[in-house]
Amino acid sequence: MDKNYDSKMKITLLTTYQCNLACKYCRVWSPNREYKEYSHKEMTQLIKKTCEVFQPDYVCFSGGEPFIRKDCIALLKIAGEYCDVGIFTNGTLITSSIAQILKSYQEKHGLTLTVSLDSHLEEVNDNVRGQYKNVLNGIKKLKQHKLDFGVAIVLTKQNASTILETLEYFHKNFTNEIHVLNLRPTYKVLENASELWLPSEERLKIWVKIIDYDKADQLSLYHPFLKSGIERCSASKLKLTVHPGGNITPCDLASDVILANVFETDIEAKLKEPPKWSCLKNVPRPEDWAPTTIKV
Ligand code: SF4
Repeated sequence: MDKNYDSKMKITLLTTYQCNLACKYCRVWSPNREYKEYSHKEMTQLIKKTCEVFQPDYVCFSGGEPFIRKDCIALLKIAGEYCDVGIFTNGTLITSSIAQILKSYQEKHGLTLTVSLDSHLEEVNDNVRGQYKNVLNGIKKLKQHKLDFGVAIVLTKQNASTILETLEYFHKNFTNEIHVLNLRPTYKVLENASELWLPSEERLKIWVKIIDYDKADQLSLYHPFLKSGIERCSASKLKLTVHPGGNITPCDLASDVILANVFETDIEAKLKEPPKWSCLKNVPRPEDWAPTTIKV
């Protein structure tokens, strides 16, 4: 088919909704979530069809926890036949043998690897995410096998006061590639808002400190602000999420806004016009929620 999307389209592929953690802000994990886990054959078809339809330049495996699927690496190799690939993982299931296979793949083909960990302090991390020690073990395996990887931190009320120490610790011990992500106003976050949600003013002050911390530019610090200082969102335009079963949404946050399904017979026609960003309008949010604007 003709390529209708920007050549830099990035796809987040949720290979499973299953997870061995139950993070308090997670929009994926739910004990009641019902869905059909795809077989290897079905997931292979989903990956191939997704790559044929979108011709992305990058597919990132996420979930749920991608390594819960025993065929995660085999599936990654299939996606890697089409474009650059990456994995967003909670790190708990990374063993030496997985790290070794990933290292060999990274050397030959390139691989972006990001592990989520919200703090260098066990108690702070485990109050929101859990399994600090197992994540640390996974990270150690990646270090032992000399993989390039990044660490992703979600900024919350719990880790805000120690965020600079966390950046320093991660930078010194793990990697200079650190992603700091804002908490997004999902239903799950609203349920736990009193524990997690940082009021706008406080959030702004923390961001000023984070960006100031990196003014020497030693970190490869990923943050959600454009040069203009406005929080960016490129959902639908430069990135889309494909869910288990093939539903396409603007991002993994807006999982109710189903734009189409990869397997629809008229998918090419449906995708002639890139969908418009409109989903967050309908999502309830804490009263003070607004995209943060900051001087960077
Ligand atoms: S590790 Fe990721 S998918 Fe699993 S519960 Fe936490 S945020 Fe959700």
